[in-house]
Amino acid sequence: MCLVDGCDKKPIAKGLCAKHYMRQRRTGDPTLTMRIARATCAKITKLEAENTELRELLGEMRQQRDAWREIAERTGVLKQLAAH
Ligand SMILES: [Zn+2]
Repeated sequence: MCLVDGCDKKPIAKGLCAKHYMRQRRTGDPTLTMRIARATCAKITKLEAENTELRELLGEMRQQRDAWREIAERTGVLKQLAAH
């Protein structure tokens, strides 16, 4: 089983499945997307309620998994994560 919590894929290298191993190699953190998504979710729920334009933008972006990083950048969440 892959080392990442909640992932039951078969490991291909270093205890990680293909998807998480690629992410580890690319970003240095196999769970980065998950962390971004979680932190971003908490932050934008409030922003969305106040900003219709943002709400529409996020609606579209949520269709794509990798869009979380961009959402996180726009809302400043990425900076917060990087600071930790
Ligand atoms: Zn995995």
